[in-house]
Amino acid sequence: MSLIVTGTIGIDTIHTPTGSAESVLGGSCTYFAAAASFFTPVRIVAAVGGDFTTEHEKVFAAFPTVCCQGLDRRPQSKTFAWGGRYLDDMNQRETLYTHLGVLEEAPPIPPEVYRDSRFVFLANTHPGVQRGLLEHFPARTLAVADTMNLWIDIASDELKALLTSVDGLVLNDEEARMLTGSRNNIDAGRRILDMGPRFAIIKKGEHGSILVHRDGVAAIPAYPTDVVIDPTGAGDSFAGGLMGRLASTTAADPLSLEEIQKAMAVGSVVASFTIESFSLERLTTLQRAEIDGRAQEFARMVRV
Ligand code: AMP
Repeated sequence: MSLIVTGTIGIDTIHTPTGSAESVLGGSCTYFAAAASFFTPVRIVAAVGGDFTTEHEKVFAAFPTVCCQGLDRRPQSKTFAWGGRYLDDMNQRETLYTHLGVLEEAPPIPPEVYRDSRFVFLANTHPGVQRGLLEHFPARTLAVADTMNLWIDIASDELKALLTSVDGLVLNDEEARMLTGSRNNIDAGRRILDMGPRFAIIKKGEHGSILVHRDGVAAIPAYPTDVVIDPTGAGDSFAGGLMGRLASTTAADPLSLEEIQKAMAVGSVVASFTIESFSLERLTTLQRAEIDGRAQEFARMVRV
């Protein structure tokens, strides 16, 4: 079923303990769309500026089921740009800079042909923009949002307003603590449910993720791997795999604890490929058969 995403298309500069990448394609919408496109067609709604090069745009061509009709090109503006540095413990990163660029302007409007979208993912961007997008899709089956520290810091009221209108929230453990004041992930998840969503997924980097759902709690490990070149985009790819799987299994109830848990396993597997390279390099050569093979291996690994 039709899946739509709004979020950032970013120009990233990344430093890890073993290397750096300058001005490469990134952004929450980008990683999400690429990851989800292995399972279902994805429509994107995002804006870029005049510094978005043909080299950046070419990366999208590697994902033929990503529809770029909702890409809003603004030659006089600057693309969102982000710089990050990972510490020796690659679970920890610091933001070096965030240049909002087009995010400070009016948000992009989804094309009319996108109106029938049933699955909506609000990847990381300003919560006001996320909320505005939702209004275009009254017939949605499932709406899930992501958020991060910057938005909890500077747009907390808008984020809380957004939470009253979405079915699910995905965020990392540090962000869950910032949002709820609770250091315990289950307790933080329950507090998020009190704010509106039916489920919350709290990500813990290489330690996996926890689902807090109205019907109970579930946990999924990260795919165990020693190939970690650049963790950037792991969270967005996790969400892309998750939503892609939910949107492609139309017969099942996409809101049940069991379906979400299965989809989280798919998200973990896709994220494990993303981190094997800088930017979207690994995803551009990835085949669906490789995902399915690793998913089977993962199922064996988590069997108890
Ligand atoms: P992740 O590693 O999954 O958290 O996502 C990293 C991506 O998010 C990078 O490619 C950045 O361009 C993008 N990003 C960083 N900060 C923000 C922000 N405040 N809002 C939206 N996207 C962001």
